[in-house]
Amino acid sequence: MKELVRKNILNLTPYVAGKPIEETKRQLGLKKVVKLASNENPLGPSPKAIEAIKKNLGDLNRYPDSSGFYLKRKLAKSFDLDPTNFVLGNGSDELIDIILKTFVEPDENIVTADVTFLEYEILANVLGCKVKKAPLKYFKYDLGAIRKLIDAKTKLVFIANPNNPTGTYATRYEMEDFLKDLPDDVILVVDEAYDTFIDVDDFPVSLKYIKNKAVLILKTFSKAFGLAGLRIGYAVGQAGLTSYMEKARQPFNVNLLAQAAAIAALDDKEFLKKTRRTVLEGKNYIYDSLNSLGVSYVPSVTNFILIDVGRDGADVFNRMLNRGVIVRDMKQYGLKNFIRVTIGTRKENERFIKVIKKIL
Ligand SMILES: *Cc1c(COP(=O)(O)O)cnc(C)c1O
Repeated sequence: MKELVRKNILNLTPYVAGKPIEETKRQLGLKKVVKLASNENPLGPSPKAIEAIKKNLGDLNRYPDSSGFYLKRKLAKSFDLDPTNFVLGNGSDELIDIILKTFVEPDENIVTADVTFLEYEILANVLGCKVKKAPLKYFKYDLGAIRKLIDAKTKLVFIANPNNPTGTYATRYEMEDFLKDLPDDVILVVDEAYDTFIDVDDFPVSLKYIKNKAVLILKTFSKAFGLAGLRIGYAVGQAGLTSYMEKARQPFNVNLLAQAAAIAALDDKEFLKKTRRTVLEGKNYIYDSLNSLGVSYVPSVTNFILIDVGRDGADVFNRMLNRGVIVRDMKQYGLKNFIRVTIGTRKENERFIKVIKKIL
């Protein structure tokens, strides 16, 4: 049946997701498994979101609000923008797809980094457009190198800021330099999935950029808000861009429970505070422990750490898995000697350190 499939799908390398807890228990016969593989919130979902979901269960016979009226209104208010500046998506993954479909012609290319969130490349490949990748510099996006890759056929630039899987970030100065020099016919997409965890002063206030530039910012409820399983994210940009994304998306792409939960989660300041505290404390604990083990890592402004295990990362991943700790092996990202670990609860972090200590 191969001849029925589009060429670029035949050659596609699919996204490899973090290994689920249930599957690991089943396959390895383990009772206690800790998942630190997908940068999820270890505290669970926002309690306010759970309440909102329960309240809305009786309406599941109805289609969701196609316009996302209340959530967009709330987002607009909190960012001092207009509801037309927002597009909702079934996770920011879907927004990446909508953006590519809306703006990129098949003969145009996109530019990103060579070690970054894999969905940019995979979804671009599904559409059949070319992907140009600039190497990182000291594990950071090299915006100068990205600029050099932009040619007459470039339509989009994807920057994950902070970057996944490195946990590094482009500073305000770097970003503003880059924007000054960005051609007017290129759209910059800044994926800020981890913005809530930022604890540095020179991180860009990217929402400022959407006024004068073709910039789209992506945000998600999957990480800090603890709603990864619900699938909801949003894009922010000029109505001159977002209105066309609205046309290209499916009418009911964001389900009813996700919309209700997101509205409630935005008010859950207590939960966000606790999440931030958990991540910062956990990160310091893991840093200290790795330091005393003499293991190097890339300092991170996110809720995960890229660790240089100094030998085959896939092997370390498997050994950890057998001891009930799921981390992420970095082979698909081209980082052979690395693993990525998500900051968990105190107990989970201690378990991770205990196991990695044994293995290394
Ligand atoms: C986790 C992650 C996302 C995915 O977010 P969803 O809203 O769950 O689709 C997007 N971008 C980056 C860089 C991520 O790490």
